[in-house]
Amino acid sequence: MPAKLVQILEILEKAYGPQQLAGPTDAYEMIVFLNCGYPASDGACAKGFDALKREVGVQPNKLLAVSRAKLAKLMRPSVIVPAACAERLKDIAGTVKNEFDEDLTAALEKRIAEAKGRPANGSGENNLKAAKKVLQQFPTIGEPSAEKILLFSGLAPVAAVPSAFVDVPIRLFVGEPGKNYAANYRTARGVLDMGLPRTFEARKRAYLLLKKHGQEICKRSKPKCESCPLAAHCAYLQAKAADSNIE
Ligand code: SF4
Repeated sequence: MPAKLVQILEILEKAYGPQQLAGPTDAYEMIVFLNCGYPASDGACAKGFDALKREVGVQPNKLLAVSRAKLAKLMRPSVIVPAACAERLKDIAGTVKNEFDEDLTAALEKRIAEAKGRPANGSGENNLKAAKKVLQQFPTIGEPSAEKILLFSGLAPVAAVPSAFVDVPIRLFVGEPGKNYAANYRTARGVLDMGLPRTFEARKRAYLLLKKHGQEICKRSKPKCESCPLAAHCAYLQAKAADSNIE
């Protein structure tokens, strides 16, 4: 792992301690979890998911059997529009039952295995396209969430970047984030992919520590650079300092 990233992750782990993923690590359950809170914070999703698990169960047949009204009532404390959330949960369960024989993990493993023989680009991204496409057909799942699911469910050690904190690796390694989110995400993923061993452990650790840093200090609109333990390693801060020296 390049020295700068090693150092950064060590500093973050010292500051915040080892981090744990909030929520389940099964691909289907992760999709349900991400749809149980809106705005989708870990706390809101956990609140909705726990209520669902306790009162109904999250398996596709359980979600299909319960009434929309009951689902909406259960989701009321964790989402803004409970009826739409209930509809999405029904959709997810129906798709997994009808299109993937109630086993989404097996379907994803199959896509990944089928793609293994095909030529991949440097990061192996081509091999994950079909699996990501399966995941992205579900409500609220874009490419960042699809990659997070592949990583944390143990299906593929993709260099996923926390979707709300893409700016953190960009600032540290590149400088000021650009205006195009998709381009920023690709750049951030590339930085992590080049800098991290291709192991689940290393990539999950990096994901969680960068996310925590984004939540606590390197905030999107106003990073608290004055109290950041990574100030000496940050390309964004160095560029700002250089600019102010010129002026
Ligand atoms: S110095 Fe500022 S911009 Fe750089 S990582 Fe820390 S908070 Fe983020």
